[in-house]
Amino acid sequence: MFPVPIQKSRVCGLRRTASRLFFMVMTILAMPGVTGSALALSLIRDAETEELLRSYATPIFAAAGLNPRSVNIYLVNDNQINAFVAGGQNVFFTTELLIEFDTPGEIKGVLAHEVGHIAGGHLARTQDAMKGSGALAIASMVLGMGVAAMGQPDAGMGIMTGGMHVAERNYLAYSRSQESSADQAGATFLEAIGESPAGLIEVMRRFSGQDALNAPNQDPFVRSHPMSSDRISSLEDRLAQSPFRDRPDPSELTEAHLRMQGKLYGFIKPFAQTLRKFPVKDTSIKARYARAIAHYRHGDTEQSLREVDQLIAEAPDNPYYYELKGQILFENGRVREAIAPHSKAVSLKPDIPLLRVNLAQAMLSTEDSAYHKPALEALQLAMRQDPEITFGWHQLAIAYANDGQEGMAALASAERAFRSENRRDAFIHSQRAMKLLPEGSPGNFRAQDIYDMVKPKHRGDFIQ
Ligand SMILES: [Zn+2]
Repeated sequence: MFPVPIQKSRVCGLRRTASRLFFMVMTILAMPGVTGSALALSLIRDAETEELLRSYATPIFAAAGLNPRSVNIYLVNDNQINAFVAGGQNVFFTTELLIEFDTPGEIKGVLAHEVGHIAGGHLARTQDAMKGSGALAIASMVLGMGVAAMGQPDAGMGIMTGGMHVAERNYLAYSRSQESSADQAGATFLEAIGESPAGLIEVMRRFSGQDALNAPNQDPFVRSHPMSSDRISSLEDRLAQSPFRDRPDPSELTEAHLRMQGKLYGFIKPFAQTLRKFPVKDTSIKARYARAIAHYRHGDTEQSLREVDQLIAEAPDNPYYYELKGQILFENGRVREAIAPHSKAVSLKPDIPLLRVNLAQAMLSTEDSAYHKPALEALQLAMRQDPEITFGWHQLAIAYANDGQEGMAALASAERAFRSENRRDAFIHSQRAMKLLPEGSPGNFRAQDIYDMVKPKHRGDFIQ
C-alpha cells in the first residue's frame, strides 16, 4: 500500500482534515467510533461532485444577482442531512444530503432557498462575524451548534467543545418569516432560469412531519429551517402558476446526479452496507460505480479495476472514471501506471485543477527526474486556479525542492500550513521563505503576508 499523507490539526477542539475523498476515508478508518459532527469533521474535495453542484448553482446565483465566482460551495462529510449558508457567500452541503436527495431538482430547490437567505441578507450581522474564518471553522461552528439552533441551549452547550459565545448559539435559527421569504425568493430565481419549485416542495414534504418532533429528533435541516404547512401551500400556489411545473430534469443531469450519489456512497458508507444497498444484480451505473469504489476501499483491487474498466469502456469520455482508475493504481503503489489514466482525465477536463494535482502527484511519486518539470508546471497552474487544494501545496513544495528552488518550496509549505489553519507551521515556513527568496520578489511579498497573518500575538500562542 502506498503511504497516504493525512493532514491533521486541531481547531477549536475539533479534529479536522481537508482533503480528497480517499484521504478522508482513511481518516475515518483511523478513528473508529467517532462519527458525530461535533467530534469529527472533514471537508471533502471531489472534482466530480463540485462540478455538478456548481452547474446547479451557477444559474441560480446569477438569477439572484450574485456573482457565481464569488460564491464558494463546500462539501462537508457528515451523516446528517443539512445545507446552510454561512460566513458570507459560502454554501455548505453535507454528504448525507447529497446521498439522500435523489433528483437534481431537489438540490436546486435547496440551493435556491439558501440563496434566498443570502439575497435577503438574513442574519447578516452574525454572518459578518464569521467572515475571514476558514471554511472548516465556519462549518464546525454551524454543525457544532446544530442542536442549539432551535432554542435548546442546554443540549447545544453540551456538545460544544470550543469557546463558543452564548450570543452565537442561535446562529442559524431563521425566523418563520425569513423562511417564507427565502422560499419565495428561491421560487423566483428558479422561475428566472426556467425551472419550477417542485424540487423544493419535495424536500419540504420529506421534512414536513418533523416539525412536531422535539428538536433532538429532528434533522438539523429542520431545526435551522423551520417547516410549516403554510410554506408548502404557498409554494404549491407558485408551482400551480409556473409555466415550468411539468418540466423534468434533463436526463444527462439526472445521470450525473446518480453517478455522484453512487460515488459518495461507495466512498463513505461501510463496505457491507454498500453491497447490501447495491447488490450485484443491480447493474445500474450508480450501483456499479458504488461497488467499484467499495471494492477498491476494501482492498479488492483487481475486482475494482475490472469494474472501472467496464465503466470506461461504456463511457470513454468520462474523466472521473479515469480519475478513479488512477487513484486505485496510485493507492496500490502502481504509481507509474497511474499516470496514463490521470493524464487522460486532465485531457478530458483541462480546466479542473484537482485532476491536474492528481496527475502531478503520480508523476512526483515515480521519483523519475523526467517528470520533475511537467509535474512542477502542472502544480503551478493548478494552485493558481485553486489555492484551496491544501494537499496540492504539499505536492508543489516537493516539486520545487526537486527543482532546487528551496525558497519557493518553503513558501508552498507555508501556504499549505496557512490554508490548513496550522499557524505554527505557517509561521516557521514563511519565515524560512522570507530568508531564502530575494527581497522585492512576489514570492517574498507573499511569504511576508503569511508571516504577518500568523505570527504569534501573545507568548505561548503556538503551545497546544
Ligand atoms: Zn431556510
